Amino acid sequence: MFRRIRSYCLFGIKAVSVSVEVDAAQGLPGFTLVGLPDNAVRESRERVVSAIRSIGKVVTGFRTTVNLSPADLRKEGSALDLPLAIGLLVSTGEIEIPQLERYVFVGELSLDGLLKPVRGVLSIAMNLSTERKCILVIPRGNVQEASLVEGIHFVCADTLGECVEILTRNSCQDVKVAKGIASYRVDVDDKVPDFKNVVGMDGVKRALEIAAAGAHNFLLVGSPGAGKTLCAKCLPGILPEMTEQEILETTRIHSCARSAGDSDEFKPVLARPFRSPHHSASMVSLVGGGTRLLPGEASLAHNGVLFLDELPEFNRSVLEALREPMEEGEISVSRASGTVVWPARFMMGAAMNPCPCGYSMDPKRECTCLPEARKRYREKISGPLLDRIDIQVSVPPVDAAMFAIKGRGESSADIRRRVCAARVIQRERFRNLTFKSNAEMSSEYARKFAAMTPAVESFAVNAAAKMELSARGYFRLLKVARTIADLRGASAVDIMDLSEALRYRAFRG
Ligand SMILES: [Zn+2]
Repeated sequence: MFRRIRSYCLFGIKAVSVSVEVDAAQGLPGFTLVGLPDNAVRESRERVVSAIRSIGKVVTGFRTTVNLSPADLRKEGSALDLPLAIGLLVSTGEIEIPQLERYVFVGELSLDGLLKPVRGVLSIAMNLSTERKCILVIPRGNVQEASLVEGIHFVCADTLGECVEILTRNSCQDVKVAKGIASYRVDVDDKVPDFKNVVGMDGVKRALEIAAAGAHNFLLVGSPGAGKTLCAKCLPGILPEMTEQEILETTRIHSCARSAGDSDEFKPVLARPFRSPHHSASMVSLVGGGTRLLPGEASLAHNGVLFLDELPEFNRSVLEALREPMEEGEISVSRASGTVVWPARFMMGAAMNPCPCGYSMDPKRECTCLPEARKRYREKISGPLLDRIDIQVSVPPVDAAMFAIKGRGESSADIRRRVCAARVIQRERFRNLTFKSNAEMSSEYARKFAAMTPAVESFAVNAAAKMELSARGYFRLLKVARTIADLRGASAVDIMDLSEALRYRAFRG
C-alpha cells in the first residue's frame, strides 16, 4: 500500500515541510530510500526496523520504496525516524491510524523503541500554528517547546509502542492543546551575581546601567583581578525581561542548536542569554555554520549578551566576522544548498587588560611592557570593531578593604527598574520605527532624537573634533547621550549628558 506521512526537516532556523512517502508492495523483499537523504537518514532504516520489532511488529518481507519529498531539499538528522516507522507500519497494514492525514510526526528512535527528542520542534510548532486541525506527534522530551506556541494540538509519547497505541486508539483525550508562554513563570536566575555584592565600582556600574538601558556595546579595560568579569556577569540581572516574542525567537535558536542524541528534556529560554565563549573559539563556533549549519555563540546570544573576555586574545578574523551581526542583527551562512540566515541581535560586551602584563593603569604596580608591545596589544582590536563599542570604560583596581563591606551596594533589582523605565521611553520613541533601542538608531535619527539646542550641538561637534572622533563615533556619542538623558527622564540631551558620554569613548572614537 502507498501511504504519505507528514513531517518536517530543519534548514537553518526554518522548518520545511517534508513528506515521507512509503510504498510497500508484494514482490522480492527489498528497501529503497530516495529523495536526498543524508547519512543519518540513510542509517535510520536499521534503527526503525529494530524499533518496530521491539513492539512485536514485522514490516520486512515487502518490496518497500521510500521517497522523501521535496526531492531537492537535503534531509538531515534523525527526526525522520518516527515518520518513517509510522509509514512502514501503515503501508504494510500492520496498524491502521484513523485520520492519518491530520498528524505531523517528528522524533528519533532508539533500537529498543524509545522516542528521543529532536531539535527544532519550536520552529515546527510555529509553522503549524495556523493549521488548527493538525496534530503534532512528538517525543515527550520536546513537550515544553511545543507548549510555547499557544493553541497548537499535540500528542506526545515516550516510546514507539506508546505512540502507536495512542494513535490507533484515536481518543481525543490524548490530544493536548498548548497553553503558550503565559503558562511559564519567569524566575529570577539565582546563578546571576547581584550588583549589591559589587562594592566600590560605582563608575563601572553606572556605565553598565547605561549600556543595559540603551542596549549599547561595552568594553571594560582594567588590571587582572579588578572585577571586570564579575561586573559583566551581573549584567543579566539588570536587563529587562524578555517579551514573549523574544522568548520565542531565542528559544527557537537554542532548540536548533541542541546536539544530536541529546536526550534531556529541552527547556525554553526564558531569561536573556549571557554567552561567554572562550578566546580560543573558532569562527564556526562563534558565528555558526559548519557541516550541520548550526547557529554560533553570536546567535545563541540573540536578545541577550555576547561577552568576550580577554578580547585581544581572540583570533582577529573571528572578531572581524562579528561586525556583520553587530551591524545587521543577523548572520548569513552560505552553502551549496542555499543561504541560512541566523538572527544574531545581541549586546556585545568585552573585557581586556590595558597592556600585555596588565598593570599599565594600576597606580600601585609597575607596568613591565615595552611601548612597542603595548602598542601591538592595542592594535589587535581593529579600529572598526572598537568604533562599534559605544561604551568604553576603565575599571580601576579596587581597594581590598572595600570588599569587606559586602552586600552594601545598590541591588540589581533597583538598577533594573531604572533600566526598564528608560526602555519604556525608547519603545514609545520608536513605536513607528524598526529600532528597538537607542543603540540601533541610524545616524539621522540619533541626531533627530537627541533634540539638542544649537549651543549643545556645537558643544558636541567641538568635543568630537577635539577627540578626533570619526563620523560614526560622533553619532555613537549622541546615542549614548540619548540613553543617559532617558535614564533621567529628560526629553532633550544636554551638555552634562554629552560630557558623560564622552568619558565612555576613552580608548578610541
Ligand atoms: Zn604592561
